[in-house]
Amino acid sequence: MNIEQKINSLREELRQHNYNYYILDNPTIDDYEFDIKLKELQALEDANPEFFDVNSPTQRVGGAITKNFKTTVHDFRMYSLDNSYSKEDLLDWETRIKKQVDGEVEYTCELKYDGASMNLTYENGKLIRAVTRGDGVQGDEVTANVKTINTVPLKLKGDYPKRFDIRGEIILPIEGFVKMNKERIANDEEPYRNPRNTASGSLKLQDSSEVAKRPLQCLLYSIKGNDLNISTQYEGLQKAREWGFKVPKEAKVVKSIDEVLSYIEYWDKHRHDLPYEIDGVVVKVNSLYQQDELGFTAKAPRWAMAYKFKAEQVSTKLNEITYQVGRTGAITPVANLEPVQLAGTIVKRASLHNADQIEKLDIREDDTVFVEKGGEIIPKIISVDLTERPADSKPTQYISNCPECDAELVRIEGEAKHYCPNYNGCPPQVVGRIQHYISRKAMDIEGLGGETVALLVKVGLVSDYSDLYELQVEDVIPLERMAQKSAENLINGVEASKQIPFERVLFALGIRYVGETVAKKLAKHYKSIDALMAAPIQDLISVDEIGERIAKSVVEFFNSEENRRIIKRLKEFGVQLEISAELLANQTEKLKGKSIVISGVFESISRNELKKLIEDNSGKVSSSISSKTNYLVAGGKMGPSKRAKAESLEIPILSEKEFLNLVK
Ligand code: AMP
Ligand code: ZN
Repeated sequence: MNIEQKINSLREELRQHNYNYYILDNPTIDDYEFDIKLKELQALEDANPEFFDVNSPTQRVGGAITKNFKTTVHDFRMYSLDNSYSKEDLLDWETRIKKQVDGEVEYTCELKYDGASMNLTYENGKLIRAVTRGDGVQGDEVTANVKTINTVPLKLKGDYPKRFDIRGEIILPIEGFVKMNKERIANDEEPYRNPRNTASGSLKLQDSSEVAKRPLQCLLYSIKGNDLNISTQYEGLQKAREWGFKVPKEAKVVKSIDEVLSYIEYWDKHRHDLPYEIDGVVVKVNSLYQQDELGFTAKAPRWAMAYKFKAEQVSTKLNEITYQVGRTGAITPVANLEPVQLAGTIVKRASLHNADQIEKLDIREDDTVFVEKGGEIIPKIISVDLTERPADSKPTQYISNCPECDAELVRIEGEAKHYCPNYNGCPPQVVGRIQHYISRKAMDIEGLGGETVALLVKVGLVSDYSDLYELQVEDVIPLERMAQKSAENLINGVEASKQIPFERVLFALGIRYVGETVAKKLAKHYKSIDALMAAPIQDLISVDEIGERIAKSVVEFFNSEENRRIIKRLKEFGVQLEISAELLANQTEKLKGKSIVISGVFESISRNELKKLIEDNSGKVSSSISSKTNYLVAGGKMGPSKRAKAESLEIPILSEKEFLNLVK
């Protein structure tokens, strides 16, 4: 097998595994084996960029950045759907249909997936573009983002038409949504409201590798095209499934509106057994010939009808409003409810979001409230049942002092939430900050857990994260559940954290709005904490992707004398507060603005090292030769076509040695 065949066979194999896993839910190898094969393919592709393919399984991880999404006109307009809410609505619809078409009418019943609509275009079995619904006539092209979604096939199987559009819904399954929110809450970020908004928001992220991290799926429901050789809606669903798309199996063909109603009734009851949210059922005339006869109104097809489920509501008593203090001091009011069954779970609490929300709905303790789970995982209070309000009820007085430390709360202009400003004395903030500091994505201190942190603070051994570095084995042994061995592990873990690179330390500091990505950007730009501390707001804003909100928060953080004292201590203990000297020494701007293609096999340096060398010298590695390429670095065994192309475009070709001399 030559290299090209090897690459293609790996791609085929990985595609099949991807299909088994994501479409069939039936993996035949484990994740580890899959990863090994993917890495093997990645290495081969890196070494042989001439075989680059935008639809390779390696492209799923994303990386492309889209600044502005291109507006694209749909080949086939994307209509909306008419809504029905009752048996009568559906019977009226049937009467209208029967006036227009002859013969028996069959219906396909499908679930109405609650997400963001998407139109995918395939040509010769390859995904060529993905466009949002937009206004139905034109939408935004979000191909780079959609390619990262594992259930979207990049290459089709079987006997597919040469060119067609396929429509579906991008959804976020509940399990993935809950997991994302757990992480957000742990980072003291506002949780996402519901899976639908999160799914549609994801499509417009600029960085496709961020999209790749979200467990989105695409469920397909309709094929559009010319000469498709498909005669019913149901047949279309089956074909799409054969070509490799994820088409849920719940769809069903029925012969009467009564059967439609049973389908609706069944799914209204069982919707919570599904791994994703649905907000109703879509009923479609099954015959495509009859669909053609019926055509469209200005807004929607006459041959389809959505049936929307009612959002599930219950009423229950609000026993008490309590207030939670997050790691950054943000206050969240919580409604503690008389436990009640709703949408398949028992609900005990509902978020009240902020003071405005409480005031707007005039929510009071001892009220009977209506709670709804309409798409939202965290239930919300819709309204108060005023007929049940006790006679002596008084409006809710929002707290003015912190429930944990009694400090007077502040509310920053333009922000919805109140904050406890007692940064250094408010226990949940102090503990939360240290817990964040030691967490896996931050300093990753092994041998130290969240509960131990709380204990260390409680007994007064630690009051900020710099104190961790002074702990001795003898100090911690007396603590509950602490043995010699675990005490040693703790101290060793703290010691090891001194090796954690600057960008992660910066994230660990817990500056409001400075998440992992922002920390990386700032570390790369300023290179040391001293430079960052000295940066005025205007300078911070000039850094790519740093806005005013972040800039202000950074300046405010370093303005605090206490924070400066803590950082000074971290420095003394040897925590990495600048990009390592090694890294820094190797960073130059020698290749600034240069686009470089590497190809072939190298002797004294690996391809990854070579890439890194280019990036450290501010150059850009690109995968294919074009008129914009500045250099081609050629190793051994480079393909002749590549050389020919570079020569024809008069691009300088450098040998390994010549290149290394250039950056020396
Ligand atoms: P609406 O947004 O209420 O007008 O409803 C129309 C939308 O429902 C379509 O744009 C689709 O995104 C979505 N939808 C979800 N599931 C289906 C389905 N099975 N068939 C057709 N449309 C669906
Ligand atoms: Zn407080």
